[in-house]
Amino acid sequence: MTWRSRPYIKTISAFPVSHIISRGKMKLIFCKHCHDIVLLRIKDIRKCLCGKASGQYVDDLNAEINENCIPIGINNFSFVDAIKNQPKKGDGFLFEAFVIPKKCPTIRVIKK
Ligand SMILES: [Zn+2]
Repeated sequence: MTWRSRPYIKTISAFPVSHIISRGKMKLIFCKHCHDIVLLRIKDIRKCLCGKASGQYVDDLNAEINENCIPIGINNFSFVDAIKNQPKKGDGFLFEAFVIPKKCPTIRVIKK
């Protein structure tokens, strides 16, 4: 896999994703049951394919998810850089994503 090192592009103006991005990162949920991955949005509860995992941003930083989720973060600058530099062929362009820790001040897990 080829890793291209370059400074992250600081603008996202070409992509209308600013409403889902929080301080350079965006959160997604991975369903422990059906393994679907869903992007969280502000005050719009989204569910996975099986419906067991759900969550939403409550403001531009904090999110609420249920206990069937594993939260995932994507570095926005890295992701936009990868999109803008999508290779025509060969290896893909890596970007930064991570599993958010179980204890995270910006995520509240709601138990049913
Ligand atoms: Zn599911």
